[in-house]
Amino acid sequence: ANQSPLLCTHALEAFYGDAQALFGIDFTLEQGEVVAIIGANGAGKSTFLKCLTGLLRAPREAVRLAGEAVGGLPPGEIVRRGLALVPEGRRLFPSLSVQENLLMGSCSRRSGPWDLQRLYRLFPVLQDKRHAPATSLSGGQQQMAALGRALMSNPRVLLCDELSLGLAPIVIGEIYRALPQVTAEGMTVVIVEQDVGLAQRVSRRLYCLQEGRVSLQGRSDSFTREQVSQAYFGA
Ligand code: ATP
Repeated sequence: ANQSPLLCTHALEAFYGDAQALFGIDFTLEQGEVVAIIGANGAGKSTFLKCLTGLLRAPREAVRLAGEAVGGLPPGEIVRRGLALVPEGRRLFPSLSVQENLLMGSCSRRSGPWDLQRLYRLFPVLQDKRHAPATSLSGGQQQMAALGRALMSNPRVLLCDELSLGLAPIVIGEIYRALPQVTAEGMTVVIVEQDVGLAQRVSRRLYCLQEGRVSLQGRSDSFTREQVSQAYFGA
């Protein structure tokens, strides 16, 4: 078996022009884990995901996927190697149908269990609405479609940016209930979440970011509320 973690970063730094946004992030993700990244607005969560997915330039050796240095590779190449992003705000193609949106995810398809049939079993409402325009879906259904589109590439790692954003609690519950069915197939998942309680419940380990640095990391069930809130807001 492979000794190296499925995904890791080492001393990862990120910049927007002269402004530094990440200061030396060390992160590891093992095959089959669900890991949460939490942190206040502006802590660097989205920036971290951008570095992983090639949307923001990272030094080659700072990001490794299955032992290979992938930092700074073009986003399409990173998808082909097995990282798929469910972007914040869904970003569906508004002029396409639900099914066409899902099929867009299979452009850089790897071999694996996920196809339309399996997705429709996971989210039956997407099958019912497959010919409807993506814009006709409710917020929660759009989130299901965005998740489905990412799964269609059969990624090794699914990166989810704020799945719960703008959704009612009952809808958030529906979406997160699908996660165990995804991980049951061996999928490895990173979730970025504003909702700390939710992040702690669904993840095995968590990283808290504060002003571009890791302020807390470890088993999600090992921290008190006070520890998390201290790491989240600072002293
Ligand atoms: P949010 O929950 O609001 O998305 P976040 O934790 O994802 O917050 P980032 O969006 O990664 O935080 O922001 C980290 C830092 O980088 C902040 O100081 C932010 O102002 C800065 N930043 C983010 N995007 C840009 C950009 N396009 N240009 C310049 N600075 C940026």
